[in-house]
Amino acid sequence: MMKEVSKTIPELYGSLVFNDKVMRERLPKDTYKALHKTIQNGTHLELDVANTVAAAMKEWAIEHGATHFTHWFQPMTGFTAEKHDSFISPVGGGQVIMEFSGKELIKGEPDASSFPSGGLRATFEARGYTAWDPTSPAFIKDGSLYIPTAFCSYNGEALDKKTPLLRSMEALNKEALKVLHLLGNTKVKKVDTTIGSEQEYFLVDKDLYKKRKDLLFCGRTLIGAPAPKGQEMEDHYFGVLKPKVAAYMHDLDEELWKLGVPVKTKHNEVAPAQHELAPVFDTANVAVDHNQLTMEMMKKIADSHHLACLLHEKPFEGVNGSGKHNNWSLVTDSGENLLDPGKTPAENTQFLVFLMAVIAAVDDYADLMRVSVASAGNDHRLGANEAPPAIVSIFLGDELTSVLKSIEEGTDFLKQKQILMEIGAKVLPHFAKDTTDRNRTSPFAFTGNKFEFRMPGSALSVAEPNVILNTAVAESLSRIYEVLKDVPEEQMEEQIQELLKSMITQHKRILFNGNGYTDEWVEEAKKRGLFNLKSLPDALPQFIAEKNIDLFIKHRIFTKEEIYSRYEIILENYSKTIHIESLTMQDMVKKDFTPALFAYVSDVTKEALDKRKLLPSLSASYEEKIVQTLTESSEQIVLALAALTEDTKKAEQMEEPLETARYYHDSILKDMDTLRASVDQAEAIIPGSYLPYPTYDELLFSL
Ligand code: ADP
Ligand code: MG
Repeated sequence: MMKEVSKTIPELYGSLVFNDKVMRERLPKDTYKALHKTIQNGTHLELDVANTVAAAMKEWAIEHGATHFTHWFQPMTGFTAEKHDSFISPVGGGQVIMEFSGKELIKGEPDASSFPSGGLRATFEARGYTAWDPTSPAFIKDGSLYIPTAFCSYNGEALDKKTPLLRSMEALNKEALKVLHLLGNTKVKKVDTTIGSEQEYFLVDKDLYKKRKDLLFCGRTLIGAPAPKGQEMEDHYFGVLKPKVAAYMHDLDEELWKLGVPVKTKHNEVAPAQHELAPVFDTANVAVDHNQLTMEMMKKIADSHHLACLLHEKPFEGVNGSGKHNNWSLVTDSGENLLDPGKTPAENTQFLVFLMAVIAAVDDYADLMRVSVASAGNDHRLGANEAPPAIVSIFLGDELTSVLKSIEEGTDFLKQKQILMEIGAKVLPHFAKDTTDRNRTSPFAFTGNKFEFRMPGSALSVAEPNVILNTAVAESLSRIYEVLKDVPEEQMEEQIQELLKSMITQHKRILFNGNGYTDEWVEEAKKRGLFNLKSLPDALPQFIAEKNIDLFIKHRIFTKEEIYSRYEIILENYSKTIHIESLTMQDMVKKDFTPALFAYVSDVTKEALDKRKLLPSLSASYEEKIVQTLTESSEQIVLALAALTEDTKKAEQMEEPLETARYYHDSILKDMDTLRASVDQAEAIIPGSYLPYPTYDELLFSL
């Protein structure tokens, strides 16, 4: 039975978080004000303030059962990292007191040498620093006080995913403010990025999970014949939650609420055993931290429910993979959503300027957007007939599209129901939210008052895609500002109109409202000159393209060294991932699959021989057919296995990161596909009782 908790949820919510309410209650007024100012305006925090905050945090943490504290950061592994120190401090006489200083709160010094650093490690000291991010609240988990931090090298190079995200939020804030002030919206003091990330995942039985090396080591199945039933009945999406799944989701919600993660929506997804969770959106860095926590808790709670949570983008062949839709918008300090079309004409000018800034940004930096979601796992998803294609384009919906068209052509905009509206800057029409229809195939869709970037993979940190989005939009806004900054007030409207017009002409190639899964679109996109970067090795060279390096440097997101280090880390990670997959596949085929195949062939052969012995006239044609088919398969398997083994050895000798990644893509993945085809064909004939690992039937329909 589930516990009755609904009455206490407002009490439960954030009960393990050192949030604003706790700070207000526990900090002296001056300290609270100083800290609040730092959080709001990013100003420097004095040490005496930090000391007072640390003391209050420690008291609160101890009251909630904490004995340790940890700086919590997001190195380039894509996971979070933590090192715990206890609060104890010996005072002589065999006694200790509990201590926590402002210095310990603000700065940590973990050894950075064992984290991925690309080229940075070779040239700089091993030491790294973690620096408190006071804009993301501290929380308690497993007896420790977790302090969200950024992680950088001794010389200040970013070694993590949070630092560039914070830098990009700052860049966007700066450029957005300039444009808003120019447009006369002078009251705004701060613009923040907001993110809501919808997280997809699979749940399978833990015992079954443990029996498969591919799931254990790679997070995805490398072999496996399809189950007789897949997702074709469309009966799982939004279907009734099975009791085990419902109980899991219930506990997950509760644990995340305690940690102040505003999880809101849960439902079954398209593939069997696939589900989704979505929170209410939050400021970008907080949302990214929360998504990391969510992924961690998903795995942890699954374990206690005797389940395994799979976050891989493509755990099973033949059914949908998992993504993480990244809903993105901009909000001012007074709560105004800059991508909300709004009701009054004046706001619409502002809306159109920001809308165009996003369109231009995505067109100019579509390659970087693709790079930001590239991983060995996500490559299986992008471009398949389920997720958005690898080509980045924007869906605006019919109404906004015709608004832009009429601006470009200088004609009047006919609102639906044929109400004539003029297109002067001040009398631009109001577009109701509901008139944006749905498009499931677009990688980047306007959904009423935000954009939804659908390419991110389920296992990825959402930091990267948002770094790119923020930075690219900052750049568009800065270009808009440059054009408009010296325009006299009385000409402003006309000039904005002109600018919008020319931007639409320049960037309309990125707009596409049709079906992104078709071959026609691939052709059309090529004609339009859009990127179609199908795999990570295809995409990554764009990360170091000159225009992109210029962008990052101009907005102080990355130094050149940081870009190259990341480039290397991403490529190496890709090659290492496929290397592990190759070894795991070889191991499974040799030690798990082949013995099962031989055992079955041997039993069937014996059976046929026994029959003949008993009655030579009896037919053994069924047995013969099985033996023959499986022998043919095993001949293909031995060849394919040899090719994979040999090519993997070659890959191990390679050094240049891009060349190696290409080889893994072009040769190793292909070898794995060939091997899998034969194995799956054979597996379809072998009874499950012979196999030492569970089949797709069991995995996908076990709960
Ligand atoms: P849909 O079901 O159409 O995909 P929802 O309205 O359910 O959209 O929202 C999906 C996600 O988008 C949720 O996480 C939600 O909090 C988030 N979201 C809503 N508004 C914003 C916004 N202004 N900025 C960022 N994310 C948002
Ligand atoms: Mg959505």
